[in-house]
Amino acid sequence: MLDNLRNSLQRIFSKIRGAPYIDEKVLDEIISDFVNTLIEADVNVDLAMEIGQRVRERVLQTKLPEGIPLNNLVMRILYDELVKLLGEKTFKFAIKPGKTNIVMLVGLQGSGKTTTAAKLANYLKKRGYKVGLICADTYRPGAYEQLKQLSESINVPFYGDPKGRDPIKIVKKGLKELKKLDIVIIDTAGRHKEEKNLINEMRKLAETIKPDEIILVIDGMIGQRAYDQSKAFAEATTIGSIIITKLDGSARGGGALAAAAATKAPIKFIGIGEKIDDLEAYVPQRFVSRLLGIPDPEFFTKLLEEVPKSIISGKFTLRDLLEYYENVANKRGVFDKIKDMVGIGGLSEKMIKKQISRQLAILKSMTKEELESPELLKDHSRVERIARGSGTSLIEVKRLLQQYDKMRKMIRALMRSRRLSKELALAKIMSGELDPAEIKRLLKGAA
Ligand code: GDP
Ligand code: MG
Repeated sequence: MLDNLRNSLQRIFSKIRGAPYIDEKVLDEIISDFVNTLIEADVNVDLAMEIGQRVRERVLQTKLPEGIPLNNLVMRILYDELVKLLGEKTFKFAIKPGKTNIVMLVGLQGSGKTTTAAKLANYLKKRGYKVGLICADTYRPGAYEQLKQLSESINVPFYGDPKGRDPIKIVKKGLKELKKLDIVIIDTAGRHKEEKNLINEMRKLAETIKPDEIILVIDGMIGQRAYDQSKAFAEATTIGSIIITKLDGSARGGGALAAAAATKAPIKFIGIGEKIDDLEAYVPQRFVSRLLGIPDPEFFTKLLEEVPKSIISGKFTLRDLLEYYENVANKRGVFDKIKDMVGIGGLSEKMIKKQISRQLAILKSMTKEELESPELLKDHSRVERIARGSGTSLIEVKRLLQQYDKMRKMIRALMRSRRLSKELALAKIMSGELDPAEIKRLLKGAA
């Protein structure tokens, strides 16, 4: 559904999720991608830019809860704005019990009325209602046959008169024949090309037939122009709702949906394909989360909830480094991966082992307090003591402390942006999975 829009939005979201660090430059890139994506989906240009501006302000002005990465805030705000754009409210299709509910479909020629009438009948039948269809299109040759065949394919009662000329007469007769049903759906001609005439025709039919619900069927391919249609419709009737069709693969579908939602006309269903099952109840939150490739709307509501304590409380200390060396680095094959990290690239394995054992010696010469609180090592006399005690040099101890500081920043950034535990973050850094550009961004972000 809405393939272009979906692909672009999913690309933007995976960029946000994967970004180790979001600064104003990255944020502006994301926003400009987002705005362009909306414009390509035929959302009104001014509106798209206004949304971009609002996203920027909201991101910069929102105070982040402790432990929440900026990535989450950006995702949440984009989600919110999309939901707002595509209609925050969900409108139920209500069926009154104990009577035959009359539903009438109106819309411009080719908008998808006849197809939608059958889809809706199928949808309601599956939910246990007794449904019938009436063809009131006396204008287009073949309209009768089209709906008759569709009715047969889903096995629901049908009424029509291929020779009849007066739609009102046909509907009255049809309603008599189908009176034992819960819902009767009337398909109309909608021969007009103009919105004004369409609305007039709808008024006239509504006055005589008095349907319980009139549904305007809008072709999603008309993009922003859906605004005028929905607006006129919403003003002309209080019992009206909207179905937008052809939201599958239509590049302009986003615009049609946004435009219709902007009129506050209740969108109740969307058509997402030519087949009989390609109709679904419109729930904006669900629609947006699927567009974003994260089908669970809960994901977005949880984005700004506090990060589990186990994650943020994990402070990376020199003891963690010591333990890592003792437990992991002694294993074969690990040396190659970690040699760049410990600043000894380009050495033979024997030399690397020697370097690591020197670093281990340094760490082991530290006191318990020093391992837990590296800030104690700002004291020069402690550094001298450690160098002496480990049989290394002042320079080596200082280099180790610098490396530790670099790792600590990267781990903190990884923990925040990806919600990794400190162990996982360290493993990720040590495994050499991060490319140099990412390391640079992590360090910058954690500074
Ligand atoms: P009507 O003139 O308003 O009754 O429109 P029809 O129901 O005859 O549909 C016109 C064309 O649009 C047909 O070819 C349908 O198959 C097609 N159509 C209707 N709804 C959808 C939809 O949701 N997706 C796609 N791809 N095509 C649709
Ligand atoms: Mg038709």
